[in-house]
Amino acid sequence: MSAPITADGRLKLAIQRSGRLTDPTLTLLAAIGLDFESYGQRLISHCRNFPLSILYGRDDDIPELVALGTADLGIVGRNLVHEEEREVIELLPLGFGRCSLVVAVPRDSHFQNPTDLAACRIATSYPHSTRGFFRDLGASPEVITISGSVEAAPAIGLADAIVDLTATGSSLLLNDLRPIATILESEAVLVANPATHASAAGQATIDRLLLRIRAVNAARRYKYVMMNAPAEALPAIRAVVPGLKSPTIVPLDKPGWVAVHTALSEEDFWESVERLRAAGATEILVSSLEKLLL
Ligand code: ATP
Ligand code: ZN
Repeated sequence: MSAPITADGRLKLAIQRSGRLTDPTLTLLAAIGLDFESYGQRLISHCRNFPLSILYGRDDDIPELVALGTADLGIVGRNLVHEEEREVIELLPLGFGRCSLVVAVPRDSHFQNPTDLAACRIATSYPHSTRGFFRDLGASPEVITISGSVEAAPAIGLADAIVDLTATGSSLLLNDLRPIATILESEAVLVANPATHASAAGQATIDRLLLRIRAVNAARRYKYVMMNAPAEALPAIRAVVPGLKSPTIVPLDKPGWVAVHTALSEEDFWESVERLRAAGATEILVSSLEKLLL
């Protein structure tokens, strides 16, 4: 087992070299201000402005690299952390790479519940997760492991059902499959080697990274909003924007009027704007936030 932290105190972060998680991962690392080169076929690159090196690998290998301490940290789908059953600590969900691990059956089959598959054959690239799911239901169907084209398995007579990842369900539809159960909701997560996480030096660097990632991800969930309103509208406006922090109120030249600065949650943004307008707010300016530290 290699030492979790390199001699120069850098942590090593394993990320997917090439695949669905690569672009959003590199975008996140850039957004938190890490300066490193990520082009070409490099195996490792060093951040110029942070004690971190980036290690590029197959996503399937990342849980093991982190569990063994070859990498201190990893960014990988929760589906693989669950499947590989390695000893890593999930530090933070990252909000991209969302998908579900589902049990799916041929559209016209009579199967309704996963327990209907107790005596069936199921094809998957996720054998541990599949067996574990059915074991918890008291069933033990035959599970065969294939590495690709899982969705084609029922059509070619290889299996009665499949367990596979789906994001929008379109690939299942295309293959005449319908989902009947969800085993796991997944997204990309930041994971850590337990020894690194327990060490003071490791924890200090991890805390710096977490602060930055949280700030960038929180900023995406809010918009910065400025508006003008008559002072008597303030109680109604405050009722709409109670969440993040109390709004900043600035008097305007126009007597009896104020400017209100606040942050609105992206989730119910339009409903909030409608209520602000109904309360008397006008000239509502909205801008994106880059970072948000609470
Ligand atoms: P590698 O070459 O690194 O082994 P891969 O082909 O096994 O890559 P990708 O298809 O790039 O893996 O998927 C990487 C991760 O993206 C998955 O493990 C999962 O967490 C996530 N993901 C998000 N949406 C989907 C989807 N619709 N299908 C599969 N994976 C998805
Ligand atoms: Zn893979």
